[in-house]
Amino acid sequence: LVKESGRNGFRFFKGEMNAEALRWLALETRLRRAIERDELSLHYQPQVSRLDGQVVGMEALLRWRSDEIGSVSPADFIPLAEDTGLIHPIGEWVIRQACFQNKAWQNAGLGPVRVAVNVSASQFKAGSVAQVVRTALQDSGLEARWLEVELTESVMLGDSAAAEAQMAELRAMGVSLSLDDFGTGYSSLGYLSRFPLDKLKIDQTFVRNIATEQRSAAIAQATIALAQGLSLAVVAEGVETVGQRDFLGSLGCDVLQGYLYGRPVPAFEMAQLLAKGRVIL
Ligand code: C2E
Ligand code: MG
Ligand code: MG
Ligand code: MG
Repeated sequence: LVKESGRNGFRFFKGEMNAEALRWLALETRLRRAIERDELSLHYQPQVSRLDGQVVGMEALLRWRSDEIGSVSPADFIPLAEDTGLIHPIGEWVIRQACFQNKAWQNAGLGPVRVAVNVSASQFKAGSVAQVVRTALQDSGLEARWLEVELTESVMLGDSAAAEAQMAELRAMGVSLSLDDFGTGYSSLGYLSRFPLDKLKIDQTFVRNIATEQRSAAIAQATIALAQGLSLAVVAEGVETVGQRDFLGSLGCDVLQGYLYGRPVPAFEMAQLLAKGRVIL
């Protein structure tokens, strides 16, 4: 999980809790203070038109650099934040930060492009996503059409009526809704017609092997056809090679995101990219 430096208190509880639980607890204490200590930031990754290299959107990705333990991957701390409820203040911070940053870029004459934020199922479960977004848009002055919410298939499981209502409210405001990691969750295809979505994101696990593995290619192809049939936009994630780009292009997927076009970068670097307007390979 995380490199534990083994501080005070660690030994005291040792007999009572296993090492994993201890690491979790220590991490939680630190994450709890991360916002007030200004240890969180957003990085931004471009979404690029395959045809002309134009930056057509971006995804905001959360970064945590702890003074005590260094950088922690979201793959490690997001699940912790979800388990402890810390995802609520953190998730609100993410939405507000992305809105204020995008508005600041627009005020500086950069873009305009849409910024996508990741929202956890537990945030939807709490029922506050639409209100948090509404307030963030009002306070920042960002128009709703420049904000996109990425959600996963798990949002549509369980008490899906509540999630559906919040999604409808976001949509009515003018916010776009994107289904992240498509094909890796448990949702049924019926959800695609029931829930008000704008976009599907092809998961990177399918993109990774697209040119070498028939099954991944078939899933990517079917996803693209499904999106087209339902009049949804489609974006491929995790595009790292020219081969993957060209294969996706041959399937009709024209918006791509991945290391080939750019890694997630801090806001000042994204500003430089927005000033250029395009990625030239
Ligand atoms: P995700 O939303 O599916 O984001 C895509 C992940 O793939 C990011 O990892 C990104 O850095 C990485 N990636 C982008 N291009 C490539 C590529 O070409 N190759 C490879 N191998 N990876 C690529 P990251 O930033 O570590 O985030 C991991 C996950 O953590 C995200 O997956 C998302 O589920 C979650 N996450 C990140 N930020 C937030 C947030 O603000 N809120 C919530 N709730 N979850 C977040
Ligand atoms: Mg995402
Ligand atoms: Mg994803
Ligand atoms: Mg993911």
